[in-house]
Amino acid sequence: MRWRNYFIPTAKETPKDATAPSHILMLRAGLVRQLAAGVYTFLPLGWRALRKVEQIIREEMDRAGAIELKMPCLTPLELWEETGRAAAMGDVLLRLAGAPDDWRSGLVLGPTHEEIITEIARAYLSSYKQLPINLYQIQAKFRGEARPKSGVLRTREFLMKDAYSFHVDKASLDDGYRLMYDAYCRAFARCGLPYLAVEADSGAMGGDVSHEFMVLTDAGEDRVALSENRDYAANLERATAVFQSGHEGTEARRHEEAAAVREVHTPNAGKIDDVCAFLGTQPRQMIKTLVYTGVEESAGQSAGAGARAAATARRLVIVALVRGDHEVNEIKLRKVAGVPIELAAPDLIEQVTGAKVGFAGPQGLVDRIDKLIIDRDVTVMSDAATGANKTDYHVLGVQPGRDFPLSGPKVVVADIRNVVDGDLSPTGSGAPLRLRTAIEVGHVFKLGTKYSDAMRAHYLGPDGKPAPFIMGCYGIGVTRVLAAVIESHHDDGGIIWPMSVAPFQVLVMSIDPRDEEVVRLAEQVHAQLEAAGIESLYDDRDERAGFKFKDADLVGIPVRIVIGKKSLAAGGVEFQLRSRPEKTVLSPDQAVSRAIDHVRAELARLSSAT
Ligand code: ATP
Ligand code: MG
Repeated sequence: MRWRNYFIPTAKETPKDATAPSHILMLRAGLVRQLAAGVYTFLPLGWRALRKVEQIIREEMDRAGAIELKMPCLTPLELWEETGRAAAMGDVLLRLAGAPDDWRSGLVLGPTHEEIITEIARAYLSSYKQLPINLYQIQAKFRGEARPKSGVLRTREFLMKDAYSFHVDKASLDDGYRLMYDAYCRAFARCGLPYLAVEADSGAMGGDVSHEFMVLTDAGEDRVALSENRDYAANLERATAVFQSGHEGTEARRHEEAAAVREVHTPNAGKIDDVCAFLGTQPRQMIKTLVYTGVEESAGQSAGAGARAAATARRLVIVALVRGDHEVNEIKLRKVAGVPIELAAPDLIEQVTGAKVGFAGPQGLVDRIDKLIIDRDVTVMSDAATGANKTDYHVLGVQPGRDFPLSGPKVVVADIRNVVDGDLSPTGSGAPLRLRTAIEVGHVFKLGTKYSDAMRAHYLGPDGKPAPFIMGCYGIGVTRVLAAVIESHHDDGGIIWPMSVAPFQVLVMSIDPRDEEVVRLAEQVHAQLEAAGIESLYDDRDERAGFKFKDADLVGIPVRIVIGKKSLAAGGVEFQLRSRPEKTVLSPDQAVSRAIDHVRAELARLSSAT
């Protein structure tokens, strides 16, 4: 391809509002253009790279036995209502506007396709003999993201590979899950991504683990806990640490030695830092008391013949305790609570504690609430400070177990906090955990029967009895992968493409494009590369050398062959890799064969690097 005949709108200036390196470089290198908030055009160079990522993913899915199909982006609202996700997804689900009787109001743009694929399974998969099966597609997804961010890392329209597997039992699901996990490792490695598979919250399947594939970058929106020796990696949502009991002697003994609780006047000091300043204590000596409400749904009694069982909802008051320097992990808390939870409104907090917000403490609370959930680390505190349940007062000298119960019918002790930097790996290796920022590029997930139950999608087993499909789902953000590749492969000058996803493999550059010999040789080198099946971009523009070199760095083609009067005087052409500073002068033929060898070796290295 000749640059002059192509379309690469590069830009010198850093676009305003862009901070993530991939965002800046994708705009500057002319890969994408923003059309609206969270909506991007892929320009020719970006599109070439994106199609390579897509093709790598496709090959790995096919190799794992998954079968490609293509579902529509327009999907019927009815299906989303069957599973309750029309409501649960809220504003993320983009609905077509129309009057109630207009066909438009019955359609939504697919943000993901569990419902659609389950409808297909329900229609066509009737026997256990057809299982297991894994169906996938690579398709645009639409989500009403509140905050599109960092270029194509988070957009409202993006390309996703989504796969769904159907199984008869958990063992088969485990096998299918493993196949996808391995396929993801291969796909990301082939893209040159330094990925990390981390344990993720498993949501629907309860105790089971799901995995997210993460790329460490400050532009990410996820937090992962990574042990220093890499024996543990988990999303902060799920990460746990070794529990260090740290106490000597019995609880009774500690209580004997401890002083009584004393009340201190702390006017207007409702925040941890203010209280600590006031009391001259540290956050780690404080107990944070957080009041939540939960809603317990219970099926009511059926009131006579023909009456439908009415569900009744009861509001629960749940109090969570964590150390002052720790944060509650609401995903863990919700699991322990067993019901959906949210922070209580100020008036309820006042009603429960008898004090303004900021002065709650666990003393005497248990009788007034439904559940007291205590973080493990609180149980080993002594001489703690906390709110006095009296406006403008705190208490010192609080002993867990003496001043509030650590056991009993309403009390649960559990891990309900986020891990913090320096906590120890739960593997017991003693390695400290570090928190890092990351971007999620893929997710493998065991769904179980969530969708098949809701949509009554059944197959007939060997015994002739109907059973719901056991499902898995597996997503990769294809556009996000491309941005993540750039996040991990760039320098101040621009992108440094891994060979497998580079829009072109070799850049041939003439720097004295009016010199006949230069042009003749440049064209010859370019033609030889193309004839060898190498994707060569020939920068034939009549521009200054400095300008062309800047563009070459920015656009980041992995191999560069520069032909100019200077190189000819030195005996040939200049060969350079984008990733290395060294330049070598070679004969044109040598440069061509070196380039071909390098391209092939790099592709081979990437495909064997799982
Ligand atoms: P996130 O937590 O980043 O919003 P998600 O959990 O909503 O991701 P999934 O529903 O599992 O993501 O989607 C599968 C994959 O699609 C993700 O792993 C991610 O790579 C990609 N993805 C999700 N949302 C977006 C988005 N708004 N823009 C670009 N890619 C996205
Ligand atoms: Mg999301």
